[in-house]
Amino acid sequence: MTQSTALKPHPVIVPPHPQWPVLSSDEKSAMKARIKTLLKQRNAVLVAHYYTSGDLQELAEETGGCVSDSLEMARFGTEQSAETLVVCGVRFMGETAKILNPEKQVLMPDLNATCSLDEGCPAEEFTRFCDQHPDHTVVVYANTSAKVKARADWVVTSGIALPIIKHLAERGEKIIWAPDKHLGRYVQKQTGADMLFWNGSCVVHEEFKSVALERIRRLHPDAAVLVHPESPEEVIAQADVVGSTTALIKAVTDMDNQTFIVATDGGIFHKMKQLAPGKKLIEAPTAGEGATCESCAHCPWMGMNALQNLEQVLLTGNNEIHIDPEIREQAVKSIQKMLDFSSSQKK
Ligand code: SF4
Repeated sequence: MTQSTALKPHPVIVPPHPQWPVLSSDEKSAMKARIKTLLKQRNAVLVAHYYTSGDLQELAEETGGCVSDSLEMARFGTEQSAETLVVCGVRFMGETAKILNPEKQVLMPDLNATCSLDEGCPAEEFTRFCDQHPDHTVVVYANTSAKVKARADWVVTSGIALPIIKHLAERGEKIIWAPDKHLGRYVQKQTGADMLFWNGSCVVHEEFKSVALERIRRLHPDAAVLVHPESPEEVIAQADVVGSTTALIKAVTDMDNQTFIVATDGGIFHKMKQLAPGKKLIEAPTAGEGATCESCAHCPWMGMNALQNLEQVLLTGNNEIHIDPEIREQAVKSIQKMLDFSSSQKK
C-alpha cells in the first residue's frame, strides 16, 4: 500500500550556471600539471562524480583517483591511504566522505555546491515529519545532509535503493522515503512496499519532458531510452533501461543499439563517449512547449566544480568539510548499513 502525504515541497533557490573563464589548451595543460603536483604534495586523491566536467574526470583518472556514482565514491574514499580526499561533486558527497573517513581531511572546490534534494529536505522539518510516524523505518537517499542521515535508519543511493527497499518490504516494514518523490514512486512500484514520501525532487531530472521525448523517439525509432529514476513517472515509463548513472553507462556499452536517448545530467556523456566512442548519444529533451528550463540537463551545483577552484583549494587547504561528532556517530550507522548490504549482495 502506498501512502501519499499532502506535504508541500520546501522552496529551493536554484543558482545560475557558473560561467568559468575559458582556458586555452596550454593554460589548461599547465593548470592540470600544477594540480597534479599539488595532489602529490598534499598526499591527496581526487574523488569525482560523473556529472562533473570532462577535465575533472580525466584528471581524477590520470592521478589514481576515482570517477563514479555516489555509492562508489563513498566506498572508494574508505579504501585510500591518502591523507586528504578532494571531493569534486556536491556537498552531501563531501559530507559522506568525511562521515566515513573522520581521520582524513576532506576538501571540496566549492562548499556552496549543494543539491535541490538536500536543500529541499531541512533536518528540523524532516525530523518533525519522522516523529509523527514512529512506526516507520526511515530511509533517506544519499542526497541529504549529515543531519538528515543521522535521523535515518538507512541511507541508499539510486544504485542500491531497489534491493534495500525490497528487503525491508519483505520484512513487513513500513517506510518513510525521502527526499526524491520520483525515485520513491519508482521504487514503490517495483517493490510494492508501504511507503510514505517526502515531497522533494531533483531540478535536473524533473525537467525531462515526456511529450517531447515521445517526439524524439519517433525520430530515432532504433534508439534505446536510458532514464535515471529521479525523472518524472511519464519519462520513466518510456525507458528501455532505468537505473543509476553506473547502470546507464553500462547499458551504453552492453546494448547492441547504436543510438541512445539519455535522460540524466549531461556530464555523464563524457564517460559514455570514452567507453563507447562509436555510439550516438542524444540528450533527452528538457525544453519544449511550455517548458521553463532552469537546469537544461546540467546541474548548476555540479557546475561549481572546475579546475580553477580545485587548484585554489589545493593551494590554500580551504573548504574543508567538518561534521559534528555526535551527528557523525549517528549518520555513519545508516551509511554503513548500506555499504554492508551492498557488499553482501556482491558475494
Ligand atoms: S543532478 Fe539533481 S540530484 Fe544530482 S546533485 Fe544536481 S540537483 Fe542534486
